[in-house]
Amino acid sequence: MFKDLNALIVVASKNLNVKEIEYLYKLGYHDFGENKVSSLLVKKNELKDLNINWHFIGNLQTNKVKDIINEVVCIHSIYKVSQVRLIEKYSNKIIPIFLEINYLKLPSRSGLEIDEVESFIEEIKKYKKIKIAGLMVIGAINNNLLTEEIFSNVSILNEKLGFNELSMGMSDDYEIALKYRGTTLRIGRKIREELPSLIL
Ligand SMILES: *Cc1c(COP(=O)(O)O)cnc(C)c1O
Repeated sequence: MFKDLNALIVVASKNLNVKEIEYLYKLGYHDFGENKVSSLLVKKNELKDLNINWHFIGNLQTNKVKDIINEVVCIHSIYKVSQVRLIEKYSNKIIPIFLEINYLKLPSRSGLEIDEVESFIEEIKKYKKIKIAGLMVIGAINNNLLTEEIFSNVSILNEKLGFNELSMGMSDDYEIALKYRGTTLRIGRKIREELPSLIL
């Protein structure tokens, strides 16, 4: 079971319905991550009797920050000053965030390039409502060797910057993430193996 691993499991629940989430909650998973603001709000409302820690793990549009910021315990995908500025404006608490890294500089993905991270941290230092937990990165699809390079280098940078948490590892590469000291795994497809085939 994923929950027996020595890491925080954030269940990536975009393809799970509320019954499935409830089942996993009863198995002991209490952290769930959505990547769309509207889905998070709907599921959170339907599951409001459970004490779920909701995380936002997708690309957060600036104009949605105010809708989500007081509904989550953590945002995994910060890479723009405008996001931080709006957190500062609307959050009613200090919120842990991860800085998302676009290691391969893919135009199709969002995130900071490795050599932008330090100046970004400098730029957001003055904002008091955020606490940087660590870096977040997504591995390379179907390429374990490249994923090793990504996770290893992002982990080194994470430690150099003095962060305690590191959000990396999904269904296909969580073992590589653990090898490079990932502390927070975001698991979607593979957690289905812990669900019965029929949930009533
Ligand atoms: C869907 C998703 C995951 C989980 O991916 P799986 O391959 O299904 O484990 C992790 N992180 C983010 C940002 C996601 O959108």
